[in-house]
Amino acid sequence: MSKTPVALITGATRGIGRAIVDKLSSEGLSCVMVGSRKESFGPMKKSPPVICRESQWHRGLAIDLAQWPQWTHQDKFDGFHFSTAAGSHTYRCNDGAWPLLDFAPSSELALLVNCAGVTQASPALRCDASEIQQITNVNYLSAVSLCNMAAKRMLRSRKHLSRPPCIVNISSILGDPTAPVLTGTALYGASKAALAQFSRTLAAELARTGIRVHCLSPSLVAQTDMVRTLEDTSRARLQSTFGQFPVQSPQDIASQVWELYGSDV
Ligand code: NDP
Repeated sequence: MSKTPVALITGATRGIGRAIVDKLSSEGLSCVMVGSRKESFGPMKKSPPVICRESQWHRGLAIDLAQWPQWTHQDKFDGFHFSTAAGSHTYRCNDGAWPLLDFAPSSELALLVNCAGVTQASPALRCDASEIQQITNVNYLSAVSLCNMAAKRMLRSRKHLSRPPCIVNISSILGDPTAPVLTGTALYGASKAALAQFSRTLAAELARTGIRVHCLSPSLVAQTDMVRTLEDTSRARLQSTFGQFPVQSPQDIASQVWELYGSDV
């Protein structure tokens, strides 16, 4: 019998990640959502994702992905769990601490979306070691560890799922070696290029297992904090460099994730 599919989404508190959670939830998936701090889930607790079936649940976990590799050795993470009583679509919310991949026996990991990301505040020459480490840890190394953890779990879960498990990594056009160069983004772009190349090779390595690996490289996704909080000059340079590419919305990216999850099956 097929189990309830679970998606693990990082960067789930806002922007593109939140739109992905809303899309997946509306399609019936349960979500394990990762943000850097428990407080980041404030808006989510006030306005939880809409659920469409009884067995669905969602869980928010606070994992500071900048603390790689320390977080990979941690057994449990602070967070909250949304569940519904039988026959009800009203959430009950419990606070607690849970392992990252610990679900009820009726649920199985079907999808990983690595969406957490941080931008670069100043040109590479002015970034100190801790900023370089933060960008690399969040955008690339934590995503690699999550792919490894998820793929091991998916090797066991795949026989219980109605469609093959899937990993989607969110890179960026700034990591695409064929795209125009935007100065001031060397570290961010390099971390995203590394994620894209890792995804390509991992896809080939996992092909025989039936686990699918995809990578999306969005251009400008305008309505997110990542773009809103840029300095005016940086945002103007971004817009003029990538003006010929379509501006996308977080919901556009969420729909692309959903199409990839449903594709090739
Ligand atoms: P936002 O800045 O709106 O959201 C960033 C998300 O990443 C938040 O959920 C944030 O959690 C999480 N995050 C940041 N640092 C950490 C950390 N140390 N540990 C755990 N989680 C962390 O970003 P967007 O929605 O705009 O971008 C999402 C992804 O899409 C990113 O990977 C980005 O690089 C990529 N992208 C974005 C584009 C755009 O134009 N916006 C274009 C191309 C790619 P918290 O709330 O706890 O801080």
